[in-house]
Amino acid sequence: MELSVAGQQISVEAGASFADAFKQALSKKQFKELVVARCGESLLDLSTPIPAGCATVEPVYADSPEGLEVIRHSTAHLMAEAVKKLFPSAKVTIGPAVDNGFYYDFDYERPFTPEDLEAIEAEMLKIVGADKPFVRAELTSAEAREKFAAEGETYKVELIDDLGVPSVSTYTQGGFTDLCRGPHVPRTGLIKAFKLTTVAGAYWRGDEKNPQLQRIYGTAWASPKDLKVYLERIEEAKKRDHRKLGVALDLFSFHEEVGGGMVLWHPKGALTRAILEDFERKEHLKRGYQFVQGPLILRRELWEKSGHYANYRENMYFTEIDEQAYGIKPMNCLSHMLIFKSRLRSYRDMPQRYFEHGVVHRHEKSGVLHGLLRVRSFTQDDAHILCRPDQLREEIIGVVKFVRDVMDIFGFNFEAEISTRPEKSIGSDEDWERATNALKDALEHMDMPYAINEGDGAFYGPKIDIKIKDALDRSWQCATVQCDFTLPERFDLSYIGEDGNKHRPVMLHRVILGSIERFMGVLIEHFAGAFPVWLAPVQARVMTVTDAHKPHAEKVLRFLQEQGIRAEADVRNEKLGYKVREAQMERIPYMLIVGDKEVEADGVNVRVRGGADVGFVPLSGVAQIILDAAREPFKRGGMSYSFS
Ligand SMILES: [Zn+2]
Ligand SMILES: [Zn+2]
Repeated sequence: MELSVAGQQISVEAGASFADAFKQALSKKQFKELVVARCGESLLDLSTPIPAGCATVEPVYADSPEGLEVIRHSTAHLMAEAVKKLFPSAKVTIGPAVDNGFYYDFDYERPFTPEDLEAIEAEMLKIVGADKPFVRAELTSAEAREKFAAEGETYKVELIDDLGVPSVSTYTQGGFTDLCRGPHVPRTGLIKAFKLTTVAGAYWRGDEKNPQLQRIYGTAWASPKDLKVYLERIEEAKKRDHRKLGVALDLFSFHEEVGGGMVLWHPKGALTRAILEDFERKEHLKRGYQFVQGPLILRRELWEKSGHYANYRENMYFTEIDEQAYGIKPMNCLSHMLIFKSRLRSYRDMPQRYFEHGVVHRHEKSGVLHGLLRVRSFTQDDAHILCRPDQLREEIIGVVKFVRDVMDIFGFNFEAEISTRPEKSIGSDEDWERATNALKDALEHMDMPYAINEGDGAFYGPKIDIKIKDALDRSWQCATVQCDFTLPERFDLSYIGEDGNKHRPVMLHRVILGSIERFMGVLIEHFAGAFPVWLAPVQARVMTVTDAHKPHAEKVLRFLQEQGIRAEADVRNEKLGYKVREAQMERIPYMLIVGDKEVEADGVNVRVRGGADVGFVPLSGVAQIILDAAREPFKRGGMSYSFS
């Protein structure tokens, strides 16, 4: 038959495999690197006979996202083979590819140790060296069941029973056979770069009532070079872990006796977030938002009316006052809507943009709590924009511009995603189309590329999610803007139109930073604790060489504080080198040293965080240097920010 393979027209015998076809179309070197074949949307083993309907075949190599996924999943099989060889009594369960790597869950009598991982890795390298083929087989479910039952692989038997299909496929490399849909690399030799990283406990099928398993995680890449880059990034991420830096920089702490997922902000952390919040307040005022504030708890009936009680109850906390049930707010929408509803609104009053740093509580499972990134009590920079349908596009553009301006200041790149109408949803087709188009229009207007997440919108409306990329190229979900047709309906919100009739407003829910706690965690890791000058809790520290320089240090400190600079003085009787090192550890942007010369010439010797030595600067010039550095990011973002 005739077909196009890697862009070439070739002809193969009926029943030929993808490998046969690629042999004709590719060089020997290319052929050796092939991972799988792509035909339309499907990825298939090279050994698979080319199906009748397949007219175009593309090669998939290890350095493509699909190729990498196959490599990673194949590495999981490899690991299972090594584990079974070294620990024959271990039972295998499942082993999928995940972001950056793979895992495999084993039922074993004890947790695997770091030494075990080393031994497993060494065994895996042997299997790679042997360059064994991955061989696919089709079995009836009865045959497969019998085979795995004979080996004592009870989890596999359970999987087969659950599948309830007449036949299944298995893959065998060397002496190890796994139940699997595939596809896989043709030979173990194609697995060139991997490392086992951690062991964690996991429950069979994620259910705590089931047996506890040992999950071994690994990472796998197309080349040793890619693996090295990744491992270095992980090392850097460990150094930047906000939980560690949070303690080292005395920013925040968690306490068992307070409760999981509840942050205590120490003076420096609280000051940093106050600066962040203050910045946000000013930016919201500039953009026509109004500040509002609601209570932490609202009566349960209100949550029933909004639909939260029916759809979100398991994430909420409840309490009782005077035999009246209350819900602790997980979102700020309800108060904002009641404020809108408290007066008669005319079309001329629209839009109403209500902003609140709203403290919310959500019940997250204890297992997913993670430093500041996943907490139970947090503050959202939340706003609800109630607008006329004809204002929707302009309002969304306003929000996206706002997000861009703010992210520019931190130096984050970002990506946008639009989630469209899910199967289960409310609102008319017309509403959905208008809102989705408004979201698309806004991003196009801003020249922001976006991906479409088909059917992933909330049931009440479509949304834009904006993910930022940090210094280590990791993605973080922060800003969102969601269109909502339902809540205005449920709360019977209206405004009087030009025609004198009542009309329903559209509501946008939006956050810029998202959770302040989470954003602080991201910022700490992004900047490795070295906050930019405008955000640093201590911008400058004055240090004396000896006690004789104390009066001058105090004068410098007063002067800086009068200029609105967050400064402190270290006049301890310690060696200067020690004081400098400590300030460096605390990531203080400016170290201002005063000795004889500085006293005499009325100035300071300036050292910048990270090492640069500016030298002598007269007192009047120091404030300027620091204030200029603090303004720098705002100039870049085309914004102004006053520090008074
Ligand atoms: Zn597999
Ligand atoms: Zn909301």
